[in-house]
Amino acid sequence: MSDVSEVSSLPWATQTSSAIGLYARWSPELDAKIAAATERLRDAAAAHGAGAVQSTSLGVEDMVVTDLIARAQLPIAIATLDTGRLHAETLALVPRIREIYGLEVAIFSPVQEAVIEFVRREGDDAMRKSIELRKACCGLRKMEPLSRMLAGRSAWITGLRREQSGARAEVAFDEDDGQGRRKLSPIADWTWAEVWAYVEKFKVPYNPLHDEFMPSIGCAPCTRAIAVGEDFRAGRWWWEESSKECGLHVKT
Ligand code: SF4
Repeated sequence: MSDVSEVSSLPWATQTSSAIGLYARWSPELDAKIAAATERLRDAAAAHGAGAVQSTSLGVEDMVVTDLIARAQLPIAIATLDTGRLHAETLALVPRIREIYGLEVAIFSPVQEAVIEFVRREGDDAMRKSIELRKACCGLRKMEPLSRMLAGRSAWITGLRREQSGARAEVAFDEDDGQGRRKLSPIADWTWAEVWAYVEKFKVPYNPLHDEFMPSIGCAPCTRAIAVGEDFRAGRWWWEESSKECGLHVKT
């Protein structure tokens, strides 16, 4: 049997195999960024009241935003999309948010009849057959439930960051979503290292799949771990040469 020093030298058995160990770095700017993000959320609550909703993917950035909302005790609703294809680890964060923060996460699911008909017609792995079918799947499982989530809302809050991809490099703190609502991204200027430093300091619960080299987690069939040097969103729809967006954050 291996001795302890041998085991602890294995990469997956060390502290640095966790996402926190790998990425967390507190920057000199982070205190000010936390204060600024909290102020943006406070302004959103004041301006929109019950019209504001945090649309969380339950990814680590969204968990940071939920933590900021909870810490400032802001009356902002929280909601997520359950596409029916999420990892169990992702959905397990919903009861964790309830336990830790005492906050309910409203869940929006696709119309079951539409999903059953789509799968019957195109198959369970339709998303691998063409970009059109992948977008159709995202349309049914994400876009339609999102439209119900946002109905009657004047603002939605995301965890988008500029660093996530070229397509997100211009994300604004506050922008028009093209549908007459404000779309707010209070941590748009945070780095990946700052996100994890915040998680470490404030003990934010997070999806353990982030520890398995999945920085961006979507539906199970459409997410894989990334390799060193790959782009942040390279593990999403990796078989496609696309902008790696499902439509949720594409302005129409
Ligand atoms: S991410 Fe994949 S499984 Fe999820 S809705 Fe889009 S295509 Fe369908």
